[in-house]
Amino acid sequence: MYDPKSMKAEEFISHEEIMETLEYAEANKNNIELIDSIIEKARQKKGLSHREASVLLVCEDEEKNNEIYALAKEIKQEFYGNRIVMFAPLYLSNYCVNGCVYCPYHMKNKHIARKKLTQEEIKKEVIALQDMGHKRLALETGEDPVNNPIEYVLESIKTIYGIKHKNGAIRRVNVNIAATTVENYKKLKEAGIGTYILFQETYHKESYERLHPTGPKSDYAYHTEAHDRAMTAGIDDVGFGVLFGLEKYKYEFAGLLMHAEHMEAVFGVGPHTISVPRIRHADDIDADSFKDGINDDIFAKIVACIRIAVPYTGMIVSTRESKACREKVLELGISQISGGSRTSVGGYAEPEPEDNKSEQFDVEDKRTLDEVVNWLMRRGHIPSFCTACYREGRTGDRFMSLCKSGQISNCCLPNALMTLDEYLEDYASEDTKKIGKELIAREIENIPKEKVKAIVKKHLYDIEDGQRDFRF
Ligand code: SF4
Ligand code: SF4
Repeated sequence: MYDPKSMKAEEFISHEEIMETLEYAEANKNNIELIDSIIEKARQKKGLSHREASVLLVCEDEEKNNEIYALAKEIKQEFYGNRIVMFAPLYLSNYCVNGCVYCPYHMKNKHIARKKLTQEEIKKEVIALQDMGHKRLALETGEDPVNNPIEYVLESIKTIYGIKHKNGAIRRVNVNIAATTVENYKKLKEAGIGTYILFQETYHKESYERLHPTGPKSDYAYHTEAHDRAMTAGIDDVGFGVLFGLEKYKYEFAGLLMHAEHMEAVFGVGPHTISVPRIRHADDIDADSFKDGINDDIFAKIVACIRIAVPYTGMIVSTRESKACREKVLELGISQISGGSRTSVGGYAEPEPEDNKSEQFDVEDKRTLDEVVNWLMRRGHIPSFCTACYREGRTGDRFMSLCKSGQISNCCLPNALMTLDEYLEDYASEDTKKIGKELIAREIENIPKEKVKAIVKKHLYDIEDGQRDFRF
């Protein structure tokens, strides 16, 4: 039944295979010999199977767990260095015809304010985002063929790319919209999107159907096979995610990795990113009523084990998580974070009035982008506003083969330093600018190739001189 090459959801995410995996992992959670051999394999940094990674996830031996964390840190350092890519979500509309029981945008919620941004409002939001310093957005909409048809999303993408305000520009628009047809994915591809992100929410089919009682999203297979349709349509970079708390985390973890194996088996390239959201309180949603919520320690273990299992896949954590939690998981493998986010429809240009709120969930990390950038640098990270790969056509298997050859790191550090310098010149507070300039002066010496180093130094002068948008 289990077949990673199959195009049928229930065959590449086989329930039986997940149950057997969980049994196998449980039976071997203290099998030190096996755990050692899996850690040894992971040290080759070529990834692990869902079974192997599932054993590490449940391993109870403290010493081995410390080895797992150390290895996750090492892999993070080797593949991503100390760079963290920054982005912000932009909610276009919260009209939705689905019945997801964990999201306040579900159709039956008559209490929440329903909003849809006009193109003029989008311009205002994007200018506000540009004025914060953002270059990379994740578009979000509910599913509603009448209020949010694909034409609206396409028009909005065009508007966003077209806004040039002072030195600002949105250079990469990732899109997180409902599962759709190959035809619509082709249109998104033509509109120049970066990653197409779709969270599975849960891989457990029965739970999925219970949690999605009504609306088009209730079709498990159509949803689970969406990334395949996006890839078939030519979108090279797709993003996965589960909403931890909806089901048992061990089940979701195995499902997530099986999904990644399916992409590898069929398209020769795994997911571009994996997001790890946890369920949060929201308008009419009580996160405590979901019995499978996970604590910070388990969350950190999941992040570390994903890092080890799929070293080439970027990992995203949002402002759903607190500063303290983000601090911990940044070390263990997270490569992208949001900052200064609003999870409401509108709210960047002007705060939403108290009596007209449209937030999808409570934000835990409420700091401004400048505060987040400052904090990252104080902790030894390099905030990066880089969007180079997608703009240079380094997507899909081209991107992955560069990653696997290790060559991508020759681009990432120079690009991180140049885009950070743009940020410092245009948007940073005095203190952030001071720390950032010192960091750039230090980090530039870590660029391995002398020729590249010289080019970056020249471009840093050019940036001070008012020029923008240099990239490798
Ligand atoms: S999770 Fe998405 S599809 Fe479900 S109700 Fe919320 S906006 Fe709609
Ligand atoms: S060079 Fe490519 S992989 Fe590296 S940070 Fe920029 S966009 Fe990402």
